[in-house]
Amino acid sequence: MSLKKYSKERIHSRITDTKYDLQKIGEFGLIKRIRKQMTASDSAVMQGIGDDAAVITLGNKAVLVTTDILIEGIHFDRLWTDPYRLGKKALIVNLSDIAAMGGTPKYFLISLGLPKDLSLSFTSLFYRGLKDEARRFCVDLLGGDTSLSQRIVISICLLGEGKRKSLLFRKGARVGDDLFVSGTLGDAALGLKILQEKGLMKGTTGLIERQLSPCPRIQLGQAIAKHRCATAMIDVSDGLLIDTSHLLEESGVGARIWEERIPLSRLYRKWIPFYSKNLYQMALGGGEDYELLFTAPPEKREKISALAHSLGTSITRIGEILLQKEGLQLIRENGKKYSPTRLGFEHFK
Ligand code: ADP
Ligand code: MG
Repeated sequence: MSLKKYSKERIHSRITDTKYDLQKIGEFGLIKRIRKQMTASDSAVMQGIGDDAAVITLGNKAVLVTTDILIEGIHFDRLWTDPYRLGKKALIVNLSDIAAMGGTPKYFLISLGLPKDLSLSFTSLFYRGLKDEARRFCVDLLGGDTSLSQRIVISICLLGEGKRKSLLFRKGARVGDDLFVSGTLGDAALGLKILQEKGLMKGTTGLIERQLSPCPRIQLGQAIAKHRCATAMIDVSDGLLIDTSHLLEESGVGARIWEERIPLSRLYRKWIPFYSKNLYQMALGGGEDYELLFTAPPEKREKISALAHSLGTSITRIGEILLQKEGLQLIRENGKKYSPTRLGFEHFK
């Protein structure tokens, strides 16, 4: 092809063409396009784009790889978080993706973009948080990259391992399966709202902590995988509705969720009326709870409740898997059925 074809005007017209409008297709539309364009060719790739982590097989073992980015002004604000918690959270968001596969996290690399006026106390506190979280989950830092940037950018790539046969994917849910979620939902989103609007208020610390220092469900994810309790799993990072829809899409099924069964914390119930008329709004659409959402056939109910009991974690049955044509349905407390029109936050939209 001649160079003329790629003249400045031509490139400009291509990138401003509405066909290329990111806002239109959103984050998930873009990932879909990339996935079509970039299929993996190596036979060791068991899972490429499309799950919480990629999976590469090595004999009976599987290597898990995941990456997540935190950008100042998008994912966090220096006004309401501190460097120690930020360091912890940068690792936690990645740990949660390994948990969602039922794997064991092992090693990580970190790349930082930092403004030149950042204090050294910021970086040392950041690394203290990172180190404490790394110790807690027995993961080692192997390296990274550092660059000047106008805003703080943190990108971690975390490697993990798992047994090939026990790993769990977003695909695998079957019609008739139950839908379960661990812990409670909506706390992190409500914590963020409180931080953004009012700052720390007496009695809201529990919600704010869930936003700033969530807990990745590593042990639970491993136990679910080891005991072969589930058919599919994902972590709730973007919100219950969005993450359920990812699991449904990958599995080629639909689902029904009963709103009144969605687990809400005491603090969430107390504070949500000040921020929303709808009790479930943030539990359905708010992200960053980092709970595990999974499907399992009804005969596993007892095993799952025994597992929840032994780990001291609550696990709630919130729905059931339907045929794909049924889509994602929600049932209100009064029994009325509806299909959500907006699932939650999506970048570019
Ligand atoms: P999660 O919320 O679990 O981190 P994402 O929604 O970010 O998952 O990503 C879904 C899938 O798309 C993953 O397999 C991820 O690796 C992949 N992905 C996300 N962004 C890109 C990108 N820019 N290029 C290639 N793959 C991507
Ligand atoms: Mg995830």
